[in-house]
Amino acid sequence: MRCLRTAMLVGIAGACGLESPPEPEPEPLVYEVGGFRIEDATREASRGLIDSIAAALGAAVTSVTGFLPEFTPPADTITFRLLDGGGIPFVTATELLIAQWEHDLAFEYLPHQVTHLLTGYLRRPFLEEGIAVYVTEVLDPADTTTNPYRGQPPDAWVSLFEENASTIPLVTALAADNLGYAYSGSTADASAWQVFIEAASFTRWVFAIYGRDAWLQWYDSDNLTGALNAEMADLELAWVTAVRTAHPTPRPCEEALGTRGPLTTREEFWCARARGE
Ligand SMILES: [Zn+2]
Repeated sequence: MRCLRTAMLVGIAGACGLESPPEPEPEPLVYEVGGFRIEDATREASRGLIDSIAAALGAAVTSVTGFLPEFTPPADTITFRLLDGGGIPFVTATELLIAQWEHDLAFEYLPHQVTHLLTGYLRRPFLEEGIAVYVTEVLDPADTTTNPYRGQPPDAWVSLFEENASTIPLVTALAADNLGYAYSGSTADASAWQVFIEAASFTRWVFAIYGRDAWLQWYDSDNLTGALNAEMADLELAWVTAVRTAHPTPRPCEEALGTRGPLTTREEFWCARARGE
């Protein structure tokens, strides 16, 4: 997932003016472990945590590159940056950088982030997020705890959207850009969440019905209807029909997101979006 937190911080600093120079950020502590560069911006992580991050990252790289052998693994060192505070994890593919926040550290999110580094995030968000969430789902099918599809698999979420007539039309989701993630929630963030889920579910469906080579053709050409030789409306109908059949009674949004604790403001936006509000 990429987010604009850094840009937002820069924007805020600019708006405040620079009458008194800000305190310089202390340099992160840097570790070289397992072929990775681990940067600890909190400067307080234990050596055990650093080693755990490197081990989890190594496992994620092995499994993701194994699942997507068509992509050439990065030749240079991958950096993991542990940030101070909480927020949405992000990657900067051009810098081979994976960033997560101390308070929201989630190793189960690493396959998603590694997928972005492996593909280089060269295509539109629907393709890139779709494959990243799908790979995560395939690597650990029992896991329904990973954002953004907490509580039930992406297909069940799409079935719920269909039930509520709130599905973002395929042609719109496919074209989504600049997704607008916001840690504290927003309407744009809720739409981004839903595009993630729809992209994951649709990607899974393409793999299942058309096969891996067809997905690769779609990825390489960035032309869905050309790669699958089908009309957009037919693809959309077949996909949503399949997920409704497979998941006829999806969990309501609040119940699904509430499986790991009370809903955050961000998630309340998500559920409003799921209800079509
Ligand atoms: Zn992502």
